Amino acid sequence: MEESKSKSLNFLEEIVQADLAAGKYPQGIFTRFPPEPNGYLHIGHAKSICLNFGLAQKFGGKTNLRFDDTNPMTEETEYVDSIKSDVAWLGFEWENELYASNYFEQIYQFAVSLIKKGLAYVDDSSAEDIAALKGTPTTPGTNSPYRDRSVDENLALFAAMRNGEFPDGAKVLRAKIDMAHPNMHMRDPLMYRIRHVPHHRTGNQWCIYPMYDFAHGQSDSMEGITHSICTLEFDVHRPLYDWFINKLEIFTSHQYEFARLNLSHTVMSKRKLLQMVNEKVVSGWDDPRMPTISALRRRGYTAASIRNFCERIGVAKRDNLIDISLLEFCIREDLNKIADRVMAVMDPVKLIISNYPEGQTEDLLVENNPEDLVTGKRIVPFSRELYIEREDFMVEPPKKFFRLGPGLQVRLKGAYIITCDHFELNSDGSVKEIHASYIPESKSGQDTSGIHVKGTIHWVSIPHAVQAEVRLFDRLLIVEDASELGDDFVKFVNPESLQIIENAFVEPSLAEAKIGEAVQFIRKGYYCLDRDSKPGHLVFNRTVTLKDTWAKEQKK
Ligand code: ATP
Ligand code: MG
Repeated sequence: MEESKSKSLNFLEEIVQADLAAGKYPQGIFTRFPPEPNGYLHIGHAKSICLNFGLAQKFGGKTNLRFDDTNPMTEETEYVDSIKSDVAWLGFEWENELYASNYFEQIYQFAVSLIKKGLAYVDDSSAEDIAALKGTPTTPGTNSPYRDRSVDENLALFAAMRNGEFPDGAKVLRAKIDMAHPNMHMRDPLMYRIRHVPHHRTGNQWCIYPMYDFAHGQSDSMEGITHSICTLEFDVHRPLYDWFINKLEIFTSHQYEFARLNLSHTVMSKRKLLQMVNEKVVSGWDDPRMPTISALRRRGYTAASIRNFCERIGVAKRDNLIDISLLEFCIREDLNKIADRVMAVMDPVKLIISNYPEGQTEDLLVENNPEDLVTGKRIVPFSRELYIEREDFMVEPPKKFFRLGPGLQVRLKGAYIITCDHFELNSDGSVKEIHASYIPESKSGQDTSGIHVKGTIHWVSIPHAVQAEVRLFDRLLIVEDASELGDDFVKFVNPESLQIIENAFVEPSLAEAKIGEAVQFIRKGYYCLDRDSKPGHLVFNRTVTLKDTWAKEQKK
């Protein structure tokens, strides 16, 4: 087969490449990421971030971070700060940090110029009347009785709106386009509304605010954005985007749409995420079950794994649902390379090695990461009394159970081969303790015993072990596709999405663990220390299990 592995361009890259080839942008391309600061960023935003910054990086352009803060009702500085730290954490550097609110005066002047051209008017109709006169997609709308106001009257009224002379809802400014236009967005869309609400940046300076459609394109144009990329639902807004720029005769930005990322078993709208925070379905925006960037980071996701995920899913022109197991696959792949392997026992049962001297401790040297030998070795103490995983012992083991049971042999990871001699039960029938003997010549790395065992199990030395809390996370929602669910989607939150293990034991090296740093609990999964940890109380988050369901799916 021919070795033509050069990755094909996605449709946006093709557009940019063609534009550059045609010499349209000798200064280079300019993109922007335009979040509204009304919530924390989620993995869908990561897609948009990777796309906007990625395009500029690939073609030698620049990217602005622009806060689309035209709706003072829902926006807060806390959100601005979190967005900045999330974009930076994902590994991207913006050219300028900008705010649509920086442009309020200029946007106001744009509106004045459209009024002067006879292309905008002040309408006193109520919101209901405006809606009623709008028509339907198949029937034309009706002109507002205020549509033919003179330019002078419109200028005076618009200035009075700005001066705070009218209450909320009393008047709006509308573009004068065509009430019979087949695209409903072109039927005299609103440009400004009155809102006597303080803004998180401009305070009480303004009581009229531009609508998204009259702010976004104008901001793009002022910044010299060449490719304004947004999600598919804005497709129908594009004629209006172009109309305003055209009538204002300002720099021509172009809007392009791509399919938003939808992920299975979760929700992806800030409004719904906020609802879960407010209703305390989750502990906050960064509850590790949330699809927000801050939650994924807290849970142990790396920025590289998220960028890699965004790259793998590609850029589509049609909405689709991505299985969350692909995201899990990406983090597993990354952590496999970088996480140290350590031992933790989640459901401990005591194992006593009868022929090991009481009071003796042995410092075993264990490889940190066999995938990356430069990570070296660490000391793991071994002694006569250990904890092993309850599920690694069976009183009556079936044939292919390569772990521990009466008479069976197994290797203790990094240590010795042991033989199970007998066990004791509690009064409820559960296993109380297991007694075994070790084979001194079988020490890992210098094994001369000649014995071959099929299984290796993990363990911790009881006198050295550190108790820890472990939080296991599972899918947030029990339904795969939540896109059709209404606000009652919270009914579908997976009751097992959080399981807390209070009484796990981890090897002593983990007393030094750093918050957020990934480790693999061998045979269990990838974990990291949570910020809820306190001296004497370690809390670990399970980032992802080891089980590779995605790869299995792929092979089907
Ligand atoms: P939400 O509904 O979650 O509030 P939004 O689109 O209103 O999302 P914005 O803050 O306006 O959020 O979005 C900033 C940018 O991120 C926009 O360009 C938007 O199109 C993009 N974006 C938002 N959600 C997704 C998603 N799920 N997939 C891809 N891009 C997205
Ligand atoms: Mg929005």
